[in-house]
Amino acid sequence: MKMNSLEDLLKEQLQDLYSAEQQIIKALPKMAEAATSSELRRAFEEHLKETEDQKRRLEELFEEFELDSGKKCVGMEGLIKEGQELMKEKGIDANVLDAGLIAAAQKVEHYEIASYGTLRTFAHELGYDDAASVLDEILQEEAKTNEKLTRLAESGINKKAS
Ligand code: FE
Ligand code: FE
Repeated sequence: MKMNSLEDLLKEQLQDLYSAEQQIIKALPKMAEAATSSELRRAFEEHLKETEDQKRRLEELFEEFELDSGKKCVGMEGLIKEGQELMKEKGIDANVLDAGLIAAAQKVEHYEIASYGTLRTFAHELGYDDAASVLDEILQEEAKTNEKLTRLAESGINKKAS
């Protein structure tokens, strides 16, 4: 793929995000299963549904921009690997695991927030207002998920882990 304009960068980064969302869809069920807190498990399950819909909306943008899914997001691969290492810890305290799962999930959400925020601004700059509003809509969902995770951590999970 050529990389000579903001439009090229927008397209390349959309492919990166699509790969990120696909990886998250694979990881979230495992994180939900590992969670001890039922509230945390529910939060992961709800975000899985939301993420599947985000993937669908990205596919619509792929059609608009005539993109294919040939890219792997190595940033997300690394973040997910860190979460997996935590889940493999032998004999980890259940509450510590929950606190760690929230930390891992919030790193994922922050990656997404940075990415969707940047791409929304690129799309807006390029005059793709419909794409910009789709990206902004997803950005708001990621931000809400991040806030929900903060609330769960601060409303008891961190205390139980300490
Ligand atoms: Fe997402
Ligand atoms: Fe997300």
